[in-house]
Amino acid sequence: MREHPQNQINVWMPGSTIGILGGGQLGRMMILEGRKMGYRFVTLDPSPDCPGGQAADRHITAGFEDVEAARLLAEESDLITYEFENAEDTVVEMLESSASLPQGSRLLRLTRHRIREKRALEGAGIPVAPYRKVTDPGVFREAVNSLGFPCVLKTTTGGYDGKGQWVFRSWGEVEAFHGPEPEREYILEKWVPFVKEISVIVARSVRGEVKAFPPAWNTHRRQILHQSVVPAPVEPSVLERADALARRVAEKLDVVGLIAVEMFLLEDGTLYVNELAPRPHNSGHYTFEACVTSQFEQHIRALCGLPLGSTRLLTPAVMINILGEDTEQFQRRMTDLPPEVKVHWYGKMENRPGRKMGHLTVLGSTLEEALATAERLQGTLPIMNRGVEFSR
Ligand code: AMP
Repeated sequence: MREHPQNQINVWMPGSTIGILGGGQLGRMMILEGRKMGYRFVTLDPSPDCPGGQAADRHITAGFEDVEAARLLAEESDLITYEFENAEDTVVEMLESSASLPQGSRLLRLTRHRIREKRALEGAGIPVAPYRKVTDPGVFREAVNSLGFPCVLKTTTGGYDGKGQWVFRSWGEVEAFHGPEPEREYILEKWVPFVKEISVIVARSVRGEVKAFPPAWNTHRRQILHQSVVPAPVEPSVLERADALARRVAEKLDVVGLIAVEMFLLEDGTLYVNELAPRPHNSGHYTFEACVTSQFEQHIRALCGLPLGSTRLLTPAVMINILGEDTEQFQRRMTDLPPEVKVHWYGKMENRPGRKMGHLTVLGSTLEEALATAERLQGTLPIMNRGVEFSR
């Protein structure tokens, strides 16, 4: 470590060791980028052969609630980051007080609770979809009454990829619903009739420098991200507002590192922020090949006190996720892939439906070309037979 001469900011030089809480594909890709820059990595994850652990210098096999294992991670690392939001409070607090955790714990606590997150966004003057807090069945009905149909009930914590979410279109569906559970807290949101979902990944460094990546247009299948298209085919004024909103989030919430800002674009051009993720994000995987700096490299630069890299788009790109159910057939067709398609494989041992096993990035000299290649793939590979919607 070296102290920055002007403002006493810690600068972590290549050769420093970065500890990562979590060993999934996000950690793996962070490590692959960070090793190019000369950093060393230790991961902590319950699975001994997790994607991140395979790429790290050292792996600690332990549960995320294991404070002693987290202490070992801290001892072996110069600084710590995380690749998922649901770390235990006790572990994060210990890491914050006894190790260097440049991102802090405040943002993590905010973003893993949907109501706290919405309130923080509102406080920062960021528009969000109308919502109500739901604590019991009586409050649930009142909330449905005031927001109207359709609406979506979500658990305030622990949900991801559409898990812990229920959509209601009528009172009949409300009557048939066995819940909400009395001891849990939920949020009921008005269903937003969006025309597109877009996301912007923005980095803010320990030095306060902010840079945003170009917005991606995201489509989901069964509430799991299916593909990201960049540049997002929306009006230039929407791109500018999305960029400004994401920067505002990073600055107002004192973000350090990356934050992914997911937004709904409405017919009239309104943007609502739906969700934040204070880490690298699936919709930013395109940056590996398509931008001067990848999101993973940017995260490391931001934490280590280095100047942020350029986020300039070098080429249009379409990123497509490969899920467990696609894997076998996809691998059989690997030899047919066009040369403008890059494959990322996460090395997961167990292949389950809905599990993200890898992704493809389709490049093109124009967006039309990248989309046409992606569409051709759709005809030959099972992965895209889930019906890619190129316009909505
Ligand atoms: P989330 O876990 O909040 O990101 O939700 C997963 C996906 O469900 C989103 O990407 C949307 O496609 C959809 N969704 C969630 N909340 C809403 C909403 N209030 N209105 C419309 N679509 C939603």
